[in-house]
Amino acid sequence: MGKIYAYVIENNIYLNLTNRCPNRCVFCIRENKKGVGYDLWLDQEPTANEVLAAAGDVTPYQEVVFCGYGEPLLRWEVVVEVARELKKRYGAKIRINTNGLAEAVLGSKILPELEGLVDTISISLNAASSGEYHRLCRSDLGPEAFDKMLEFTRNSKLYIPRVILSVVKIPGFDPEPARKIAEQLGVEFRIRPYQTE
Ligand code: SF4
Repeated sequence: MGKIYAYVIENNIYLNLTNRCPNRCVFCIRENKKGVGYDLWLDQEPTANEVLAAAGDVTPYQEVVFCGYGEPLLRWEVVVEVARELKKRYGAKIRINTNGLAEAVLGSKILPELEGLVDTISISLNAASSGEYHRLCRSDLGPEAFDKMLEFTRNSKLYIPRVILSVVKIPGFDPEPARKIAEQLGVEFRIRPYQTE
């Protein structure tokens, strides 16, 4: 357990706001030993000022990515405060990696708050049907989680310029049906590598 609120991978800086998540995905990097190479388990969730202090000057980085361990939009107020400051101070490009379930979990509209602050949102699609999603992601929201995530994706297009749906390339998974969903929704599609160690 520690206090890593910001970490660098290649050209991007990643911000770690929370370890909370409504899902328990079978491929989650939290479940393997290697993770992302940092101990991202938090003693306590950081304030916006603590995140800004950890990030420092983000000018050298291509993107600032709100990521995890955990679902960053469960702390959307901190996302908004940090993103606003980083845009104002450094003109940062902001991305959020999300499971798209925070609005459903919190019962509030988050997306309008992100308008003008977030450049890219990458939403974990993970499956091409509700049943497959439930089997892989084991969400606290139950079988409804898939539709909630798709609704969040549709609405994201209203507020965020670049919307991506992603899947993890786990063995035996055919990404084509998921790609079709992304096409139907008019968003980008990305396949993420599967980490097993
Ligand atoms: S949604 Fe993301 S953080 Fe949550 S369990 Fe799945 S992969 Fe892990």
